[in-house]
Amino acid sequence: SLHSPADTDARALEVLSRVWGYGAFRDVQADIVRTVVEGDNALVLMPTGGGKSLCYQVPSLLRPGTGIVVSPLIALMKDQVDALRQLGVRAAFLNSTLPPEGVREVEAALLGGALDLLYVAPERLLLGRTLELLARSPVALFAIDEAHCVSQWGHDFRPEYGQLGVLPARFPDIPRVALTATADDRTRADILRVLELRGAAQFISSFDRPNIQYRVANKEGPKTQLLDFIHAEHRGDAGIVYCLSRKSVEQTAQWLVTQGIDAVPYHAGLSPRERNHAQERFLNDEGVVVVATVAFGMGIDKPNVRFVAHLDLPKSMEGYYQETGRAGRDGLPSTAWMVYGLADVVNVKRMLSQSDAPEEVKRVEAAKLDALLTYCEASGCRRNLLLAYFGEQRDEPCGNCDICLNPPRVRDATREAQMALSAAIRTGNRFGAAHLTDVLLGEPTEKVVGMGHHLLPTFGVGKGHDEKMWRGLIRQLVSLGHLAAGEHHGLSATGKSRALLKGEITLTLREDSLLPREHVRKRDR
Ligand code: ADP
Ligand code: ZN
Repeated sequence: SLHSPADTDARALEVLSRVWGYGAFRDVQADIVRTVVEGDNALVLMPTGGGKSLCYQVPSLLRPGTGIVVSPLIALMKDQVDALRQLGVRAAFLNSTLPPEGVREVEAALLGGALDLLYVAPERLLLGRTLELLARSPVALFAIDEAHCVSQWGHDFRPEYGQLGVLPARFPDIPRVALTATADDRTRADILRVLELRGAAQFISSFDRPNIQYRVANKEGPKTQLLDFIHAEHRGDAGIVYCLSRKSVEQTAQWLVTQGIDAVPYHAGLSPRERNHAQERFLNDEGVVVVATVAFGMGIDKPNVRFVAHLDLPKSMEGYYQETGRAGRDGLPSTAWMVYGLADVVNVKRMLSQSDAPEEVKRVEAAKLDALLTYCEASGCRRNLLLAYFGEQRDEPCGNCDICLNPPRVRDATREAQMALSAAIRTGNRFGAAHLTDVLLGEPTEKVVGMGHHLLPTFGVGKGHDEKMWRGLIRQLVSLGHLAAGEHHGLSATGKSRALLKGEITLTLREDSLLPREHVRKRDR
């Protein structure tokens, strides 16, 4: 190459500060940039928000020619390009949303070397016309974003991505950088094979955020629990509280304000002015708590968010990781705190089963939800479970999650599980947790007697435990898929529960989620 590595680093830093206004690269960004600028291939595995874009944007500006970015996220392309243009970068995109004259304009700019970056949808890239155009144009590099889409193992397989082998075949001398935030071993192997990256430098960032303390508690009185949490550990701190619905966002924010917390609501139903105001206050004022739906957070880069609280279940582990990841970007101790209960599990499961999505999609979503529920019900280190989901194996407990700080007792609850399942079955698989609990406890309520359920052999078999324990157990049975929620919150025993009823499998449950939880030791300040 024409430049020494030190020279490359200096030029990269110059571009970073002149174009983006940033003072330094994060962690591995500098190594990746150097590798690509010097014309070598690379695989980049970095969590969302880690800063993947700069890894190909900066090299595209430093190498002669246009950086070609392959991305399946057509909906985001225009925004990405607009943002780059605001910075003075000569960027464009090619996808099906562009009218013919727009396409011709972009193609001419590419041929003339008048573009720094070009975002292309994979199906557009694969057209003979585009490939021929690229062969005649100065190309700086190929960045394959969301590279996990090449793999059939993942949830996001794209057939067009499977054909990207055309890049090494037709452009062997142009460096390729593949980037993704999700790749287990099999997916990674597929990326290396399809894009012919064997021997390429691999930059694999850990997904671990050691300064974030992960905690999940049983939902009892969510607002009060949240207030207690803020008072005990995060008085005056900036934080984000996620709720599922706009209504609960409004109510929670209002209530926090009456309790003396500087809280502002944020959801898609507010006017752009109101949303802007909330965002500005959060970014610029000290210690503002934003109560928001998931609409909040994309592109928000506030370093000193001290806590992220979930009052409702996120949709998936990816969502949870992304949302909690907004805490503690500055590396200082922060908390990811969540409460969840039976009603949440029942609700999200029902929403999933009633959606109009194709079966295939539903199955993937259900699996994602199950992974999240397993995380919620964990009896081992939560961080390790979270990292394992993203393909990172660890055996040492982290020492900075609720489970590590306050290890739950686990015990065999097979017998109690059988009692609860039999209560569901004998009452006709159509009653909710409250009624089943009454039957188990032997409460002769009007409804119990009216249905004749006081005559069942199951009536009162659960007197040895209290209501709270049965509610907790039933929640875990639903989370683990032994009970399914149907209409009107009615619970029915599933096929999976048969093995449990026959005693072919046993069920170990966390005792502390069945009993009132002790408080987690306060983190050191
Ligand atoms: P990813 O694509 O990995 O999800 P992005 O490239 O979108 O992440 O970057 C996430 C955020 O981090 C962006 O707001 C980006 O501007 C910011 N960022 C990335 N690298 C740096 C850096 N070196 N200095 C400051 N901010 C950075
Ligand atoms: Zn742990």
